[in-house]
Amino acid sequence: MDYGLTGDSSPLISIYRRIPDVAMPPGRGFSFRDLYSYLSSEPEYGVSKNVEDKTVKLEDDLLTDPHSFPPTEMLSSVQNPRILLLQCRRHHHRHRLPLPPKPYLQTTISSSLHTSPPPASQIGTLRKSLLSREKTAVELAETYLTRIRLTEPQLKSFLHLSDNVLRDAGEIDRKIERNEEVGPLAGVFVGVKDNICTADMPSTAGSRILEGYRPPFDATAVRKLRESGAIVVGKTNLDEFGMGSTTEGSAYQVTANPWDLSRVPGGSSGGSAAAVSARQCVVSLGSDTGGSVRQPASFCGVVGLKPTYGRVSRFGLVAYASSLDVIGCFGSSVADTGTLLYAISGHDKLDATSSKREVPNFASAFITQDFSESKPLKGLRVGVIRETIDSGVDPEVISSIHGAASHLEELGCIVTEVSLPSFSLGLPAYYILASSESSSNLSRYDGIRYGNQAVSDELASLYGDSRAQGFGSEVKMRILMGTYALSAGYYDAYYKRAQQVRTLVQKSFKAALDENDILISPAAPSVAYKIGEKKNDPLAMYAGDIMTVNVNLAGLPALVLPCGFVEGGSAGLPVGFQMIGAAFDEEKLLKVGHIFEQTLQGCSFVPPLVADGFAC
Ligand code: GLN
Repeated sequence: MDYGLTGDSSPLISIYRRIPDVAMPPGRGFSFRDLYSYLSSEPEYGVSKNVEDKTVKLEDDLLTDPHSFPPTEMLSSVQNPRILLLQCRRHHHRHRLPLPPKPYLQTTISSSLHTSPPPASQIGTLRKSLLSREKTAVELAETYLTRIRLTEPQLKSFLHLSDNVLRDAGEIDRKIERNEEVGPLAGVFVGVKDNICTADMPSTAGSRILEGYRPPFDATAVRKLRESGAIVVGKTNLDEFGMGSTTEGSAYQVTANPWDLSRVPGGSSGGSAAAVSARQCVVSLGSDTGGSVRQPASFCGVVGLKPTYGRVSRFGLVAYASSLDVIGCFGSSVADTGTLLYAISGHDKLDATSSKREVPNFASAFITQDFSESKPLKGLRVGVIRETIDSGVDPEVISSIHGAASHLEELGCIVTEVSLPSFSLGLPAYYILASSESSSNLSRYDGIRYGNQAVSDELASLYGDSRAQGFGSEVKMRILMGTYALSAGYYDAYYKRAQQVRTLVQKSFKAALDENDILISPAAPSVAYKIGEKKNDPLAMYAGDIMTVNVNLAGLPALVLPCGFVEGGSAGLPVGFQMIGAAFDEEKLLKVGHIFEQTLQGCSFVPPLVADGFAC
């Protein structure tokens, strides 16, 4: 399956072709000035150059090329959206899912690590020991800081560590001593992705262009965390501006996967996922534009939640693609993830796209639930998305997803297959829309308002050089692709069509969720890659996002949690599965996730480096 990214009919290949060598997979650095002069010196590209309004008008005959975007089958479905919707409905008739024989879970990895009890809420445990005065917040802080000191040289999850951890912990201890009320997250150590603004630490978004930038404010999500008593431990590593799937795209460092230090933690929120997996902090914030919370959660064996678009304020989140961006949550248990979501959710007058919907106390609804009844999820309708357990997906991953589906069935769910025929169209549409929005959002980095400035005595070259020196090659490539897709001559062919596909994706999810309570799929087509494996093959890297991008196009909530292992590393590599719900149905996802996690036998998702006492 090429998911529309390879082969002659791929829209991205088509864009790449028009932006010649300079923008092909990074191999050598290039500047915008290089690009413009290259294009203007090539008569065959017929460039008319207007750097200031960022319009690149390329006149060639590719629009009439039969291989150009959109691919023929996409064109026909976009022209006749009803056809695809009808196909969706036709595919929705229920039939039993062929489940593999028991035992469903991967049992090839035998390790004592995988036999411990289900994950307990770390937030709950910590709160108990604080309020019972068994431990002080300072003592707890010292434990986490020691862990960070021992593991950070190998993992490199953090770009900055806070100087205020012990001061903040001391403040909580004083409040407890005086019997004053402490917030629901008192003493909880939180990692924050470095594209989320914090007033007391730099916020670089993993980019040289923002090196040393200190915002004068906290993002709304961070402000709410601090008001709940949480302690922000540090800022976590990410692919520059959130563009990437491995965290290798950070301008500063490569983060390692705690399960196998030679592998990536996923991305772009790889630092936040690795930090929770290695217990360097209790929970963390990430951002998810096309899967950047869910895919690294899967690679690192932790829980990752992408909330409904609008559930959490984006104020203070460095914009990548504003119609897709959401702040999301990582935890080592579903209960912790739900507790974190509750703390950061809600309307914010500083973000007009934040929702005024009431915010339920997500975790309190299920945290005390009794699982002794044999079918706690009786009657819940679960649809396995057929296109996600198809060719192109690692067979071991598919078998873990079958295992998860079987476990849900044992819990009382009615599991069937559903088809989302527009599924593979989501990937090229996502990359066109995300690149287009980023080309506009990133125009604010001019070397004057924020971050780094190149040395120059002339304004135009100050802009050009600051951007050429400040942005990495993947970011430049996205800006070029986006500028191209939005340019006057190609807007209809790329951006408009991609928006039409987006509507189609939304409608097909709606049809599937009218018939099912939740949909499930793998979180990624494979487990964690080796560091360097995909770095020079951006299209292969983009293809790895196939499981997650559609959910962002539709603005829906999705929860990823570990469900099994495949062979790799010293103790196996975790596999995550994704549960997708209707808009604002996070409560249901978290409840199902909690019951799933607490009843899953024989799996403990604590990486060897933690279990071995940080001897990494
Ligand atoms: N890997 C995707 C991208 O590079 C998703 C990134 C994200 O969710 N921030 O666009």
